Amino acid sequence: MNNIYDVKGGTGGDSYLIVGDKKTALLECGMAFSAANLIDNIKDVLQGRQLDYVLITHSHYDHVGALPYLKEEWPNLEAMGSEYDLRILERPSALESIRKLSNEAAHMYSGEPIEEYKDELMKIDTVIYEGSCIDLGDTQIKVIETPGHTRCTLSFLIDNEIFYGSESLGVVSQSGRIVPAFIVDYFQAIESIIKCQALKPTVIYSPHYGIIDQELKPDYWQECLDVAEYSRKVVLHYSNLGYTLEEILVEYENVFRSKEYYVEQPLFAFQINSRGMISAILKSQAEKVD
Ligand SMILES: [Zn+2]
Repeated sequence: MNNIYDVKGGTGGDSYLIVGDKKTALLECGMAFSAANLIDNIKDVLQGRQLDYVLITHSHYDHVGALPYLKEEWPNLEAMGSEYDLRILERPSALESIRKLSNEAAHMYSGEPIEEYKDELMKIDTVIYEGSCIDLGDTQIKVIETPGHTRCTLSFLIDNEIFYGSESLGVVSQSGRIVPAFIVDYFQAIESIIKCQALKPTVIYSPHYGIIDQELKPDYWQECLDVAEYSRKVVLHYSNLGYTLEEILVEYENVFRSKEYYVEQPLFAFQINSRGMISAILKSQAEKVD
């Protein structure tokens, strides 16, 4: 597709601009500290056209951080996301945690605090759900619900062939290794992977990575399933040995935190996610026994 542009503003967050003949949409915003670069990159492509929609996979700070700055730049911009994320972004505690994590990442990547923004701009305007279709004129974007990373993480299918996956499927590191990223529910993540595989997309964009080279990775979907299953085995192995969650986290980090991923994901973010994943696995195990 020649109407999809990588407009990412900095390390650690994705942003793709899709330019239809009638409307334009940004897939993901990326982090707060990279908003100024992101806006410049979008303007370079749009050449005076408006940015109409921003589509949000989920409300984590590295996916929504730049949203308020985008809304300042394009006041009519419509932010689209799940109903779950709409509710999350109404919570003062969530807004506070996004601001805190955005600042930590800003210090790490740019050495400076983030620009001031108003919390009321960190908001979903339109709820989208399974089957919703965003019409850009000559390009259609379909919404696929893929829970597992969060309670309602969204993926997108562009013109029935280009797939932008959510983190529920796993995250590919620069070396090509897939790292699991289901934070809330292991079984939902497995179902999400199987559901997306059945769409048989010709092009796959993986979050925090880019386009999957299907010649190098012909078994992408199976690898996503295998890595999720393996992470579950690792956690249950240490849990059965009587390890506490924090002790399991140490072992988990040894297995899954690859060195080349250090730059893309700060340790605090890795640990927040991993604690979630370990708890999700232990919870799913408890449910199975009951
Ligand atoms: Zn996330």
